[in-house]
Amino acid sequence: MTNVSPLPGRDEDDREWHGRAACRGLGTDPFFQPADESSAERAVREEAARQVCAPCPVRVECRRHALNSREPYGVWGGLTEEDRRALYARAG
Ligand code: SF4
Repeated sequence: MTNVSPLPGRDEDDREWHGRAACRGLGTDPFFQPADESSAERAVREEAARQVCAPCPVRVECRRHALNSREPYGVWGGLTEEDRRALYARAG
């Protein structure tokens, strides 16, 4: 998947932290599931994305954005779709 935004997802809101993102310039492929991805491939891709996110200086901002906007897809701030669903469920 190719996206004109330097970060995964949409760029409809003000995200000044984009410029400091560790994933800047990487494209969206490491962060979003392609249609034909197996569960094993998904696990590998998501772990690779987490490795990018782990030292990212804007991980907190990214994670906050994804949770607040209920981003349905992708790895954001080191959280997968499943991670976020679990957090939503726990929060009630
Ligand atoms: S936390 Fe991950 S997805 Fe978010 S900006 Fe940083 S590297 Fe990109």
